[in-house]
Amino acid sequence: MTIVDLEHVTFAYGEQPAVKDVSLTVTEGDFLGLVGPNGSGKTTLLYLMLGLRSPDSGSIELFGEPVSEFEDGERIGYVSQQATNRGGSMPVTVREAATMGRFAHAGHGRLTDDDRAAVNDALETVGIADLGDRQINRLSGGQRQRVYIARALASEADLLALDEPTVGVDAESRDEFYQLLESLNDDGITIILIEHDIGVVTDRATRIACINTELYHHGDTESFVESDALTEAYGATGQVVHHHH
Ligand code: ADP
Repeated sequence: MTIVDLEHVTFAYGEQPAVKDVSLTVTEGDFLGLVGPNGSGKTTLLYLMLGLRSPDSGSIELFGEPVSEFEDGERIGYVSQQATNRGGSMPVTVREAATMGRFAHAGHGRLTDDDRAAVNDALETVGIADLGDRQINRLSGGQRQRVYIARALASEADLLALDEPTVGVDAESRDEFYQLLESLNDDGITIILIEHDIGVVTDRATRIACINTELYHHGDTESFVESDALTEAYGATGQVVHHHH
């Protein structure tokens, strides 16, 4: 099943082109790593895929529907760059935050035992079942990211979209977080991940889209590693490629 389909998508902020003539498909079960230099249009491309921006030209389908008509928001879990630093000022507990993912399923806003069980399972899966009563603004960045994932799992999301989710998270928690993503993907959840550390992406992702406004590569990770796409995409800006090995 096709989760996201982009055909010749172009988008500019005023005169500043951000995405130019990009065509790509994300298929159910993919773990797509979206890579490219700073300012290369990765976040913009993800926004376009999720319908958070409208293309200047080209077409975008999400779960087989034109993205502008897509309404099943609970099928998508989105974790932004800022999520690590954002606790919010409201004293919301981990369990309450994860439970928000359940409201679309709960009739008339009343939670059943099944809903509560789904929330517990989600907290268990992401490894924070013991933190259910903790306020989310008292969590570490890495733990907080897991709350967002738990909320998506509780809502039975089919697609997780993450934009540099581990900025500010220490190396060990970061590695554990990526292991979690990999195991969720093994369980069938489709993942789109923006991550500046190329090593992390090539270790975990099954497919890579490499962009610098235009698409330099879209295909499986192995063919990306063997190609010159990365050097070419970064060469266009002179930025340094960060390898983590
Ligand atoms: P990346 O995620 O790869 O760093 P972005 O998609 O954030 O790239 O940005 C792509 C280009 O669009 C950059 O040149 C950036 O400066 C520009 N841009 C991003 N957001 C905006 C905005 N809200 N208004 C104007 N220009 C923007």
